[in-house]
Amino acid sequence: MAEKLFLEVVTPQKAIVSEEVESVVAPGSEGEFGVLKGHTTFLTSLKIGTLQYKDAKGKERYLFINGGFAEVLPDKVTILAESAERRQDIDVGRATKAKERAEKRLAEKREDTDLVRAEAALRRAVHRLKIK
Ligand code: ATP
Repeated sequence: MAEKLFLEVVTPQKAIVSEEVESVVAPGSEGEFGVLKGHTTFLTSLKIGTLQYKDAKGKERYLFINGGFAEVLPDKVTILAESAERRQDIDVGRATKAKERAEKRLAEKREDTDLVRAEAALRRAVHRLKIK
């Protein structure tokens, strides 16, 4: 059994989390999964969602995760996310504007609208607001 469990959450811009944790719950593309130390090794893609973890003091922490990949090892969880923010760093005004923009685009039903992109922007904004 591994002694400790470390969590690293990295985006192309910066490292968001790098600390020892008690447990992690992540939004896998095939469904949410939980990790405790000693977990079997596996690799999965992630969808837009919430990454929840219990820090070394037992406090629950929440992050927004904009999809990516997770590598689980018995003593380490590495999350590579396209973007991610800790709950306290989510800018509600920005997410509200992004949500309104995406909703307007989808409602206009213009032929040149990239629906997949607009829907993904809406999902990100709605999820950021949900975490906050
Ligand atoms: P926007 O349209 O407002 O840029 P987005 O969903 O397209 O939103 P992303 O591509 O997910 O933005 O992220 C780009 C960068 O902006 C990332 O560094 C991300 O952490 C940051 N970011 C985006 N929205 C927010 C928010 N509401 N609060 C804090 N940081 C945000």
